Amino acid sequence: MAKRDYYEVLGVQKNATKDEIKKGYRKLAVQYHPDKNPGDKEAEEKFKEATEAYEILSDEQKRQIYDQYGFAGLEGMGGGGGGYSHAYADFSDLFEGFDLGGIFGNIFGGGSGGRRRSPDAPNQGASLRYDLEISFKEAVYGTEKQVQFQHTEPCETCHGTGGANGAQRKTCGTCGGSGQVRRNTGFFAFAQTCPTCGGDGSVIDNPCKVCGGSGLQPKRKKINIQIPAGADNGKRITIPRQGDAGRNGGPAGDLIIVVHVTRHQYFERSGNDLYCAVPISATQAILGADINVTSLDDKKIKLKIPAGTPHGKLLRLRNEGVPYSGTNKKGDLYIKVLVEVPTKLSSKQKDLLKEFMEIEKPTESPMPKALSELQHQ
Ligand SMILES: [Zn+2]
Ligand SMILES: [Zn+2]
Repeated sequence: MAKRDYYEVLGVQKNATKDEIKKGYRKLAVQYHPDKNPGDKEAEEKFKEATEAYEILSDEQKRQIYDQYGFAGLEGMGGGGGGYSHAYADFSDLFEGFDLGGIFGNIFGGGSGGRRRSPDAPNQGASLRYDLEISFKEAVYGTEKQVQFQHTEPCETCHGTGGANGAQRKTCGTCGGSGQVRRNTGFFAFAQTCPTCGGDGSVIDNPCKVCGGSGLQPKRKKINIQIPAGADNGKRITIPRQGDAGRNGGPAGDLIIVVHVTRHQYFERSGNDLYCAVPISATQAILGADINVTSLDDKKIKLKIPAGTPHGKLLRLRNEGVPYSGTNKKGDLYIKVLVEVPTKLSSKQKDLLKEFMEIEKPTESPMPKALSELQHQ
């Protein structure tokens, strides 16, 4: 699955503020609003795309889900498609305090601002987002993954020109190259995307049969991606120039890999430290013991349980955690000790413990303690 990244759609950074997101959307909404581009399918698609992106990124909860799980996380949430009419109806807040004269000036003034693409200006292709799931262990130790995705490439038949048999683009006669035409409705003059060239400002008499004159064709691609050791959930890896092809010699967009890490059965992670729990017997806790614990990479590590270790104690094994990307340093492994109280005892074990209890003489009237004073375990 490869769909334009929402941040890319709105032209904002991953860490953009709410205001920047709003501004990014407002700009696009004004430019591609259906009222302003009647009958222009491309503008309508752009408007829908921007609206969808805005709907997700302006909602803190949805944005968080998107950051963490990508498009898949939003499925079934009413986002990620189809939210168009809702957000469309909810414009009032967005344009509050905005210079409406500016919008209407553009709509009614006829082509002064609006969408005007220089016919031969190079345009960078769209960046694409790819959500990649890897295992907990792969994230910790690094891995190589093959990803398959679809992007556009310059058409092989016409070499990206869009013309058949070497036909060149020429300036559109309908709009004179501006990409827009004026339409008089009797009362107002509208600027409208040129129906002949679709806003490009140029046309091809003899379009390439393979790409229909766009100069681009969809291509499936497989590439191998290195995931560095220590990659965490939500990590973004940018593969330059693997997005959609540019137009008119513009550079291709990027492919943005967003890493999603699955849960591990035993281990959890906090930054570069690993956490797990191991059960020990009550006598091991009382007398101390050397035990073996299995690390994430399946090696046996010796763990010393000091005599008198309480239930819930966190013991640390240095340098057994997650590598810091690009260094030899590692975090630590924390092991929470779970002291197990035996429930099935032989008569000999009972006799020995009774003997111990007689020497210990535990109090039969312990003083109560406030729960809030107990150490959280
Ligand atoms: Zn072609
Ligand atoms: Zn035209």
